[in-house]
Amino acid sequence: MGKVITVASGKGGTGKTTAVAALSSCLAVLGHKTLCIDFDARLGNLDLALCMTDFTIMDYLDVVNGRLDIMAACSESGRIPNLFFLSAPTVSVPEDIDTVALENMFEKIRRDFDFCLIDAPAGLGSGFRQAHTSVDMSIIVTTGDIASMRDCSRTADTVRQMGVSNLRLLVNRVVPKNLKHIRTTIDDVIDTVGAQLLGIIPEDKNIFLALHEDIPLILYRKRYSAYDFLDAARRITGEDVPLQMFK
Ligand code: ADP
Ligand code: MG
Repeated sequence: MGKVITVASGKGGTGKTTAVAALSSCLAVLGHKTLCIDFDARLGNLDLALCMTDFTIMDYLDVVNGRLDIMAACSESGRIPNLFFLSAPTVSVPEDIDTVALENMFEKIRRDFDFCLIDAPAGLGSGFRQAHTSVDMSIIVTTGDIASMRDCSRTADTVRQMGVSNLRLLVNRVVPKNLKHIRTTIDDVIDTVGAQLLGIIPEDKNIFLALHEDIPLILYRKRYSAYDFLDAARRITGEDVPLQMFK
């Protein structure tokens, strides 16, 4: 059975969408059949990060509402084998969306895929809750600044209250020379949140450049942070990969 993993953070702009695109691509490159779903209704931009803007015709509501089977609704990346994408609706999703239908979609996904990564919307509202319906793991993304880390503790509490006990922390946009200053804060957050550290991703201008050249980060000629995402993806699969700052 595959695993459904939600990537979340209370605040916007921490790098959830970037992380979902990069981690999904890495899992696919490692040979795992991987689906990523954009749950950011109306504001979705995962298609951009995946370089799959031509694949946004169907969305996950088509599956939840029973109009399409998951395999018919999602699209396969032409550039990265094993990578599939299902976009977010361009309309608002009702707050009282059928939870059982959502659970059924995730059950079907577990049968058809090795991994499914969900790009949760910012905030702790209904979209965030729907994105955590019976998932196997939640990856909380934070940047290295103190405000973002405090926010991450609150997000983790909310995720736990929703019954998800398998939490991981991904610290993004870390400037290497600042690492020694934030190490203690990261350790504190790990202790408070009770989440294992999935990885530390450096601030990397190649993320911006690859996006604007419409090349998936993992295929970009300069792969600086892509190696750190690859290590994090290996940890998701259960491999014991030591933390090296940075590759
Ligand atoms: P979120 O989905 O949490 O709102 P995004 O993934 O859209 O955040 O990232 C917000 C912005 O930060 C984007 O412009 C993205 O390219 C940039 N970004 C994300 N991670 C990094 C990083 N490690 N280094 C440099 N820029 C980054
Ligand atoms: Mg986003």
